[in-house]
Amino acid sequence: MYQIDSTETRVLVDVPNESRRQFSGDVRAYLRDVVIPDIPKSLQPKFVEAAATEKLRAMPNRFLPPSVNNQDGLIYVGDSLNMRHPLTGGGMTVALWDVVYLRDLLAPSAVPTFEDTHLVLAQLQAFHWTRKQRSTAINILAQALYALFSARDDPDLTILRQACFDYFELGGNCVATPMGLLGGVCNNPWLLMYHFFAVVVYGMWCFLWSSPNPAALVRNLLRSFSVFWMGCKVFLPLLWTEFQT
Ligand SMILES: Cc1cc2nc3c(=O)[nH]c(=O)nc-3n(C[C@H](O)[C@H](O)[C@H](O)COP(=O)(O)OP(=O)(O)OC[C@H]3O[C@@H](n4cnc5c(N)ncnc54)[C@H](O)[C@@H]3O)c2cc1C
Repeated sequence: MYQIDSTETRVLVDVPNESRRQFSGDVRAYLRDVVIPDIPKSLQPKFVEAAATEKLRAMPNRFLPPSVNNQDGLIYVGDSLNMRHPLTGGGMTVALWDVVYLRDLLAPSAVPTFEDTHLVLAQLQAFHWTRKQRSTAINILAQALYALFSARDDPDLTILRQACFDYFELGGNCVATPMGLLGGVCNNPWLLMYHFFAVVVYGMWCFLWSSPNPAALVRNLLRSFSVFWMGCKVFLPLLWTEFQT
């Protein structure tokens, strides 16, 4: 939820495909039955009113990994080149950085004429690798956080989600660097890997000691390894996709 002026608040609601099918496409019923119980009590009356009366805008979204543009006469930027989940609001950051990179790579000093197709395509190849430095972290974070925050019943993902909040609450670099990565201010994808696994290990550690009962320690230890494995399952395929393309 975010306020867009002094009297209006916008709410972004995720409607997974299976829920859409379950509610036969009736998004208002989904809001009423699934979303409203999760909304803080103080906000519920206004949300109920808006869900019943406001025009709902549906936007499909999907993950589109970037690929090298080899097609002469056409340049893809922004969402047409690369998309990620809107949860982290990274789309405009990536799209506007695409413009900045292309401004420099296709400047008259670098490409005197667009009729030189080989040179333009070589610059688009450079564009692909230059933009990756920044977009990789934004793409992975969007998809990984979506996996964590959309989890309903999975105990490992639930532990990771709580670990994420607790890690941010440690303050300092534990929140500044992930936010810098999200905002495209910090563009070292290895820092993303460091902080993601720091969250995983922090979650394992907190869960391990979450019960004073020594008998629970062994059970929690096993669960902690399962949490680590889940962290790898969320993060590594996303990293692989970014390196492959
Ligand atoms: C629900 C949702 C919430 C989001 N929230 C945020 C946010 O808070 N912050 C953020 O940074 N990003 C957010 N994003 C992502 C952001 O909207 C996109 O990354 C951004 O709009 C990409 O800009 P674009 O110019 O590449 O594409 P678009 O904004 O999609 O623009 C493409 C334009 O091309 C037009 N078009 C398409 N086909 C044709 C055609 N054949 N001929 C002519 N015109 C055509 C379309 O009508 C459209 O106007 C959100 C996305 C979604 C789905």
